[in-house]
Amino acid sequence: MSKAIYPGSFDPVTLGHVDIIHRAAKMFDSLTVSVLNNSEKTPLFSVDERVKMLREVCKDLSNVKIDSFSGLTADYAQRSGTDVIIRGLRAITDFEYELQMAQTNRKILPTLDTVFLTTSLEYAYLSSSIVREVASYGGDIHEFVTPDIAEKVYSKLGVNRNGK
Ligand code: ADP
Repeated sequence: MSKAIYPGSFDPVTLGHVDIIHRAAKMFDSLTVSVLNNSEKTPLFSVDERVKMLREVCKDLSNVKIDSFSGLTADYAQRSGTDVIIRGLRAITDFEYELQMAQTNRKILPTLDTVFLTTSLEYAYLSSSIVREVASYGGDIHEFVTPDIAEKVYSKLGVNRNGK
């Protein structure tokens, strides 16, 4: 059975992530989307909240599971019994970091491979940080995330859009 993990911060999960999840879920028998508990970042949403949001947006995908982890992605992959990491690539700016991470992971665990899916053009500009920034100024984020998550982001940031 082919199995992959898609690790990330997902703070919050965007339609760009959802697109990658749908496409990866078609390529593997089983896909685990996993929230990285990164102590170096101060997230907007807790790990539990991010896991819940991912469960909600993936509820119709029967071969997708949601999980969380801390520590090295390579160790997590090994514990999960998979050799494949999925990552999304948006622009050349992602490339350098992603290449370095993929090579580091392979150094740690030589059987590990990273599969890159290139973003769909309509989401090429989209990131969780853009969502947080636009929302913090009361801007419309409904083209970036699901309606339910948009409400959660506004509420978390204390933004009142007066029914907009
Ligand atoms: P991280 O902090 O690990 O980069 P993110 O949640 O920002 O976590 O992203 C997780 C993965 O999803 C990364 O591989 C990132 O490049 C990819 N990704 C993020 N946004 C998009 C998007 N709009 N289209 C395609 N891939 C994306």
